[in-house]
Amino acid sequence: MLNRRAFLKTSAAALPLAATLDPVFAVTPVQTSGSAPTLTPLPLRLAPEDSSRLSWQQKVRRVGQSNMTEHDPAVMNIEEWAEYWHSAGTDVVFVSVTGILAFYPSKVKFHRLGKFLNNRDFFGECTAAAKKRGMRVVARMSPDLNWGDALEAHPEWAMRNKDGSVQFNGEEPRLFKTCMFSTYMDDYVPAVMREVTSLYDVDCFYTNGWPPIGMLPECHCAICSKLPAPGTPAYWHTFNDRLFELWNKYDTIAKDKKPDSFYFANLGGNVHASANLDRLGKLAVWFQGDNQGRTNDDPAVWGATLQARVCNAVLDGKFAANITAAYSTGIVRWRNASKNPAEAQMWMNETLAGGLALYYHFIGSEAGLGEDRRWQKVGSDYFQWAAKHDAHLKPRRSIANIGVVIGQGTQLLYKGPTTAPTHSYMRETTHGLYETLLRGRYTFDYVHEDRLDPEHLSKYRVLLLPNIAMLSDSQCQQIHDYVHSGGSLMASFETSLYDENLNPRSDFGLTDLLGINKAGDVVGTNGNAYYARIEHPNATPPHPILDGFSNTNWLPGSQNRIPLKPVPNPILTVVPGFVQYPPELAYPPISHTDEPAVVLRETGSSRIAFFPGDIERTYWLTGHGDLLRLMHNTLRWLTHDARPVHVEGDGFVEMFAWETSPGYAIHLLNYTNPNAQHSWMQSTYSLGPQNVSLKLPSGVKAKSVELLRSEQLVPSRLQGDTLHFTIPRVDDYEIAAITIA
Ligand SMILES: [Zn+2]
Repeated sequence: MLNRRAFLKTSAAALPLAATLDPVFAVTPVQTSGSAPTLTPLPLRLAPEDSSRLSWQQKVRRVGQSNMTEHDPAVMNIEEWAEYWHSAGTDVVFVSVTGILAFYPSKVKFHRLGKFLNNRDFFGECTAAAKKRGMRVVARMSPDLNWGDALEAHPEWAMRNKDGSVQFNGEEPRLFKTCMFSTYMDDYVPAVMREVTSLYDVDCFYTNGWPPIGMLPECHCAICSKLPAPGTPAYWHTFNDRLFELWNKYDTIAKDKKPDSFYFANLGGNVHASANLDRLGKLAVWFQGDNQGRTNDDPAVWGATLQARVCNAVLDGKFAANITAAYSTGIVRWRNASKNPAEAQMWMNETLAGGLALYYHFIGSEAGLGEDRRWQKVGSDYFQWAAKHDAHLKPRRSIANIGVVIGQGTQLLYKGPTTAPTHSYMRETTHGLYETLLRGRYTFDYVHEDRLDPEHLSKYRVLLLPNIAMLSDSQCQQIHDYVHSGGSLMASFETSLYDENLNPRSDFGLTDLLGINKAGDVVGTNGNAYYARIEHPNATPPHPILDGFSNTNWLPGSQNRIPLKPVPNPILTVVPGFVQYPPELAYPPISHTDEPAVVLRETGSSRIAFFPGDIERTYWLTGHGDLLRLMHNTLRWLTHDARPVHVEGDGFVEMFAWETSPGYAIHLLNYTNPNAQHSWMQSTYSLGPQNVSLKLPSGVKAKSVELLRSEQLVPSRLQGDTLHFTIPRVDDYEIAAITIA
């Protein structure tokens, strides 16, 4: 067998190009220690895809939108608009019908005509210009707001505050917010849709602005006052029932004249989406990831890939697009000015890497097609490049052996522990684990909490439960079954301490499985956080989860923890937190306890690790390398250090591995950048060689490996049934497309 050093030498020799590259940004990964992982063979390939069975939208790869303003009928050059999107290689464009302002001579009462419409049929002209060029048209509506005359005639349409006053739009107070439980949604919205289907040949309908993204509405109108209290599990169920009732109603109208038409809504919010993602995945045929760019509030660069992983968890191969705002997103917005090209490009890179269709979006067409026209070349260059590689960029299924549970109920309804209640608690937990997995270069999928059955879990060697506080008895049973069939598990903190209705349990729902018992309420931090004492610091060899720690008896714990009853032979025990200032008092009054700081179990090939602290979130808050190493070591132990794909090299990257129709695609997103977790990308810091190895399924041979961004072939080598090749350089993004014989 070729050792690692010899392999590196061989690949460098096979690639003279790599040796001549400029020295590039070199980063020493924090976590690497120990040997290279074992490769598990890729699964047997899926049967070839029958493209005649795909719906039209499943063939869409590029979506374009110049979001139309009231002024556009006066200033937009329709031919220039249609030509731009068509020449970029766009399959489908959004054209505004709206609901707030009509872009055609609507006769529906309260569908106010735009003041620059001047009797023109702007919607019809745009639709005709798109259709003439072979692009499909999405009729875009906005059911979320309407004007004072509608409010006067229908006071029951408005969302209300607790005191009964009307909720108005914050920027344009003449517009009131419409309530999704009112007849506005049952009568007015369908009337506009029916008028559009009677007048135009559109391909499907979309509503912007509803449902709300990442949160639940709060309304106190006469109808809503009779519903369960906002923000409660019972309200969430009612919200979902109403959402899907309306979705079905609108879908039926869309299909009235055209059976292959459909309805879809504004979605996004990744793991804390408002609509139940399991139900949505069964109903939606187009997931609209309205997740357009990052903000100060949510600064991690991987916003689009996180959304993509969520879509892949629930869509079963149906269509999803993630929107890239070409305009300036964030806390200070310029919706009519281009954003940094490096940032817009990274968002599109992430969209493709995550397996979603590209969607590029700008607002307003002042001066023909925008006062600021810089966004246009960024989008068309990207679209045109992607169009050359559609076959390799469209995924069939992910290659991953780690499943991360989406606790959607917990994300939406749980407010954090009593010691640290914050709106962003679960978001920080999510990002902490996400970064951990990226830094370990793991391939992983999300798994929805309502899909914990054997069919969805069998591909994963390990399931991760990052503080999934709310779990029903039946979900706990499914997790039991998964472990008893040989799966491994990592869980943390308040996982299973609440049922699906947010009722606290007296002990963990997973007590028996995890081998733990609660010994008290959550302990937070006041001063020094708690430490984890290494019980046998001189053990040789150390326990695998302690690999690489030397010259210390203590490791950092977490900000918050659930005290556990003692367990036999603990690896780490809690040193309770104490004063950090003044330093005179910064020493532990109690230096040694029998309270476990991690609980490990092993039965057959199944391994379990439970951290009583909120370790993922504490890592996100601090970036402490010990926490990262501890989680990486634990993941290696849980998976028996087996991976389906191994990519070795410097840099902070996110990777995806896909089975595709021509073969396989390994995507590397280069986040090695001072702006990876703050503001926007300004430029790219290239990475040097990345050595890829994977074990092809038996009987499958690789014909070629092509790098799609740098558009070059690279040599590959078969060692036994393991395929090795080197990506000599990664700028912002690279895809190694493996074509099989
Ligand atoms: Zn209401």
